[in-house]
Amino acid sequence: MNGINRRRFIALSGLSGLGAWMGMASLLAAETDASSLSPRNLLKSPWFGRTPFALGVASGEPTPDGVVLWTRLATEPLEFGGGMPTQPIVVGWELADDEGFRRVIRRGTALAHPELGHSVHVELDGLAPGRPYWYRFNVAGYDTGTARTCTLPARGAQLQRVRFAVAGCQHYEEGYYTAWRKIAEEPLDFVFHYGDYIYEGATSPTRIRKMNGRPFTNLRNHVGPQLYTLDDYRRRYAQYKTDPDLQAAHAALPWFVTFDDHEVDNNWAGGDDQDGTPGPLFLLRRAQAFQAYYENMPLRRTAFPRDGRMQIYRRARYGDLLDLHLLDTRQYRSKQADMGNRAEVESPGRSITGAAQEKWLFDGLSDAAPRWHVIAHQVSLGNYAREKGGATVTSDDQWSGYLSSRRRLLDHIRQVGFKNVVTVCGDAHRHYASDLVQDHADSGVISSEFLATSISSGSDGLGVDAQAENTLAHSPYLKVTTDKRGYVLCDVDRDVWTGDLKILDRVMVPDGRLESFARFAIEHGNPGLQRA
Ligand code: FE
Ligand code: CA
Repeated sequence: MNGINRRRFIALSGLSGLGAWMGMASLLAAETDASSLSPRNLLKSPWFGRTPFALGVASGEPTPDGVVLWTRLATEPLEFGGGMPTQPIVVGWELADDEGFRRVIRRGTALAHPELGHSVHVELDGLAPGRPYWYRFNVAGYDTGTARTCTLPARGAQLQRVRFAVAGCQHYEEGYYTAWRKIAEEPLDFVFHYGDYIYEGATSPTRIRKMNGRPFTNLRNHVGPQLYTLDDYRRRYAQYKTDPDLQAAHAALPWFVTFDDHEVDNNWAGGDDQDGTPGPLFLLRRAQAFQAYYENMPLRRTAFPRDGRMQIYRRARYGDLLDLHLLDTRQYRSKQADMGNRAEVESPGRSITGAAQEKWLFDGLSDAAPRWHVIAHQVSLGNYAREKGGATVTSDDQWSGYLSSRRRLLDHIRQVGFKNVVTVCGDAHRHYASDLVQDHADSGVISSEFLATSISSGSDGLGVDAQAENTLAHSPYLKVTTDKRGYVLCDVDRDVWTGDLKILDRVMVPDGRLESFARFAIEHGNPGLQRA
């Protein structure tokens, strides 16, 4: 491919990075020749009766010189196919130095392919480090409005402060996304979404169900039955993405996203679901869920699904201040253990990360350059225990069900000895702030965990309820927990990491009141949570 065609190809498809491009080359081969500007099936003069930008925009995966800009076309988000013709459509994009778009510094087009649910991923490079940019998309006379993103600081730059939100678990039926609106209004550098961006279940609008022991009627209903096909998953993402508060948070700042279980199916593990479905059948479903996830997230080509797999664990660096290690604790994990079988729970042959990712993580945590390391993952490392039916129980779906993985990680952090590792995660639909110690001996405090409660899953919540009291009584290193909705705001400077557990009084009404449930500080070099 000559230079002009390669540039044209990059502009059209948003591709960059030779390795990723090689993987994509056969798929998009039709775009590599001179006719690439108008593939034979291109929709030449698109016309839409209403805006095709009903799903908003997003940005993510910033680097010191680039970022991914995302949108997906749909005029009818709740219909299969989103109301779009099954043809490629040219979408325009602009990037500006300023919010008013007086200085547009880049402009280009990208193809929204029907094969990718008419999503667009524009992968930019050559930008300046550590600064905001503004972007917008256009097609057929419609415009997305202005969104903001920013690049990472230069590699190794002396950085004084990073602020970010840890959030996820946004069940559409169980509450307003007020927490996303609040996050959009915070002066933050990025969002880490730990997963459960969608929930795969059917709705049951006519059935009054129970929530926290009380009768519960959905705030709003999922469209369609349980998700199995690519069209099912696409439509569910589209429904979630119509939410204006979620759109506001995407439009305000770049996100780093990872999936947990509900992007595919509750509590799936590697090649298995929890229903005993034959593995090859489940993998067909998982492949479709992965494709829909890629289509709907501002991810790089390196995450493009291939052969039913998806590379989602990765690193990001905020100058010399913070290394972010984003994990995938679903795709490579062993099946959940029988928690009554200690030999199985502790078996060194079982893993929550898989061997390759574990080595990659340990290598990253051994780097002395960053002031702080943060493990950004999905499920609890805290080993939270509670009494149930006369026995003390822990979860089979969290690191407590994969004790050798947990031991190896905590041993590694202790042996490296920087005393600068913090972990953030979610999944539990409650806030937890806890110190992390080994489970087999008094190791002293090795690290601490901020487990963020849900955006909406679990609805209004009961606060410090009986389950909270029960868990606090059986988990000696757990400082606080509460069953309310919200997020964790991390404010990191060179000497102190502050975690603020934000909660909303209600999510079943719009505009719930936000407050701080608890704040904890961690001193660099002195692991352990201190009340702040
Ligand atoms: Fe969840
Ligand atoms: Ca989960």
